[in-house]
Amino acid sequence: MKLIFIGPPGSGKGTQAKRLAARYAVPHISTGDMLREAIADGTDLGRQAAPIMASGALVSDDLMLGIIDERLAKSDAQRGFILDGFPRTLVQAEKLDTIVGKASGNGSEGLRVLQLLVPDDAIVERISLRRSCPTCGAIYHLASAPPAVDMVCDRDGAELIARPDDNETAVRKRLEAFHRQTLPVATYYKSQNLLREVDGVGPVDQVFERIEKSLS
Ligand code: AMP
Repeated sequence: MKLIFIGPPGSGKGTQAKRLAARYAVPHISTGDMLREAIADGTDLGRQAAPIMASGALVSDDLMLGIIDERLAKSDAQRGFILDGFPRTLVQAEKLDTIVGKASGNGSEGLRVLQLLVPDDAIVERISLRRSCPTCGAIYHLASAPPAVDMVCDRDGAELIARPDDNETAVRKRLEAFHRQTLPVATYYKSQNLLREVDGVGPVDQVFERIEKSLS
């Protein structure tokens, strides 16, 4: 399973991508998580990415391509992967074809693309109630998927946090980046007949069922 997940910020793609990765036993590769780890580790990459991410803009294609090239070359990604948050621009999509071709020797063959459809007004509400675990990355929604104990991760007991880019100004900018830079990526894959569109509104289990159906 080589799957690319496309969806606006807060569409639930991280949650669904984690589930799919477990279901198909392939790595969940989230470029957003990788950047957040780099920031937490204080690396050069993290220092460069932090202010850009906080503003809601996209990190440069060159930086992102370097990260993904290295990650997809690792042995666990040879059987497949769920890509969450990459590619986000046409340049990234075109380069990904080359990277995947390099890894498998057969171009972008076998690549599947899934787009989660969620309207903008639903996004703003979702993101304002989103919290995540800074240690294990588990994602919660204070209304629809709250932790058992208020603001504490069910898995490891860490205190939940709101992402720094989940404020209203950054969310607006992230949505704008999605419409302007990432939707053309969906069109790119649609023209190659690789794209499946799935309604992302509704309970997590229901959306997951729709995704599985569309992939079967
Ligand atoms: P995410 O967790 O996927 O919502 O990503 C959070 C932020 O990381 C984005 O708003 C961007 O600033 C940055 N980012 C993640 N993936 C990419 C990418 N493929 N290209 C450019 N920027 C990215």
